[in-house]
Amino acid sequence: PRPIELLNSALATSAAAREKVKVGNAVVHWFKMDLRTRDNRALYMASEKAREAGVPLIGLYIVSPQDFEAHLTAPVRVDFMLRTLEILRRDLAQLDIPLWVETVDNRSRVANRVMDLMAEWGASHLFTNIEYEVDELRREAKLVRLFAQKGLVIEVAHDTCIVPPGLLKSGSGGQYAVYSPWFRSWVRYLHDHLELLELLDPPGRNPESARTTFAKLFDCDIPPAPENKKLGEEEAERLEALWPAGEHEAMRRLTRFCEEDIGTYKENRNMPFISGTSNLSVHFASGTLSARTAVRAARDSNNTKKLDGGNPGIQTWISEVAWRDFYKHVLVHWPYVCMNKPFKPEYSNIEWSYNREHFDAWKEGCTGFPIVDAAMRQLRSIGWMHNRCRMIVASFLSKDLLLDWRMGERYFMEHLIDGDFASNNGGWGFAASVGVDPQPYFRIFNPLLQSEKFDPDGEYIRKWVPELKGIKGKAIHDPYDRGASGQAEKAGYPKHIVEHKGARERALAAYKSGVERD
Ligand code: FAD
Repeated sequence: PRPIELLNSALATSAAAREKVKVGNAVVHWFKMDLRTRDNRALYMASEKAREAGVPLIGLYIVSPQDFEAHLTAPVRVDFMLRTLEILRRDLAQLDIPLWVETVDNRSRVANRVMDLMAEWGASHLFTNIEYEVDELRREAKLVRLFAQKGLVIEVAHDTCIVPPGLLKSGSGGQYAVYSPWFRSWVRYLHDHLELLELLDPPGRNPESARTTFAKLFDCDIPPAPENKKLGEEEAERLEALWPAGEHEAMRRLTRFCEEDIGTYKENRNMPFISGTSNLSVHFASGTLSARTAVRAARDSNNTKKLDGGNPGIQTWISEVAWRDFYKHVLVHWPYVCMNKPFKPEYSNIEWSYNREHFDAWKEGCTGFPIVDAAMRQLRSIGWMHNRCRMIVASFLSKDLLLDWRMGERYFMEHLIDGDFASNNGGWGFAASVGVDPQPYFRIFNPLLQSEKFDPDGEYIRKWVPELKGIKGKAIHDPYDRGASGQAEKAGYPKHIVEHKGARERALAAYKSGVERD
């Protein structure tokens, strides 16, 4: 069975028993990738339960360095989450709600530790939002069973997607594997179920007694990052200024984007030298912003209340946010795609290269293709890369270099501030032509044409590859072949590590023979 089925069956089996459990001295909300107070479904449910029973609400967050490792969480992302926790703790404290942050070194001990804490606090109800990654779903299923055995209750909520996975069915009754019909169905579903776009209030204030009964919990410190995830001092300061954490910042960015840039999103979104996108991905990935809130704000700034009408910029942006839902639905339905497997089995036969020198040149932004190098250096410097460039560098790695796309997927997770398993896997699957609804394998980006089209004056390249700053005009896209070889050489800029034309032929042959071998 799929992990989601394990969870559903555990919930169904324990439903009757859960009904009978009495609320103890407190209700607990377990925060995960939902680090916000507003429009948070499980937190809202927990708060309602606590209010009805007249008992305090306690927030819990488990730091598991082992999970950081298993999920390849980037240091810049760990830093963002820890900064966010500090803000969340402060916001909750203003409502007299404590946030207890517990470090558990081994993920296999998480379940028992959560139950021990519940016993200590005299709580019998735990609320949490579902995470759709395979291990997380399995863990939740196990927790539901364990809790039921101990007379405790865990209530889970679908919150991270606007339309919960499993609700949209294709004509044949299955899960859509192609985005466009899935998106039409997503829009239809939401127009018919407007309640899914209703925003949820933040929790109410705790009874005053919470300050004395749970005094110890208000004194909890947010732990530092584990040694191998620590940022240097300069980097930490720079990134904090660039990526302020927390839900207030997320709302500020969303409001500004809806007021100023969303209208021109359609024209500007592919131009990496313009700040034409929302820069909200880190907030979606950490749950400092709910996708529901974002789509509601976009829809409300439109002159029609439809999700697929009115201003083209707004429509396009909503359809991009929907990609995030799409990839999570895919992950739930075909969990193996996020377990290092291509969507279509025949793509397992492609013979990938594992050339270390090529991989290092790609990682370091030293491939001799300025647009690729600019993008990779942007990633290393600020933990984020423009979407157009993510597609260019992913295509370059998997096709021009014929390197195993999983190496690139992993490297992205290790460096992105917005690293999200499903979206990252979906993006790599698309660019390397191995995922659901992928780019056909014979469509291979020419990095020079991409550069000329999307960074015509080379502004993005000059920003991120400063040694090419002095190169004028179109030579910036390919200095060695366009009359600027002296300057490029003097600046120490590398020559192409592969020639695109030959690399393209090699990729076509490898894909064709791999796919046809089946
Ligand atoms: P905007 O253009 O403002 O879009 C708004 C939001 O819509 C984004 O914040 C994001 O949540 C969602 N979105 C937009 N495009 C996509 C998409 N193609 N797939 C899924 N969601 C999308 N996005 C991540 O959040 N985490 C990742 O780890 C990630 N890895 C990627 C890897 C590759 C190879 C590719 C091609 C794309 C990847 N993306 C990932 C999608 C996309 O590049 C980023 O979401 C986007 O660049 C974030 O910038 P923004 O917030 O300004 O986006």
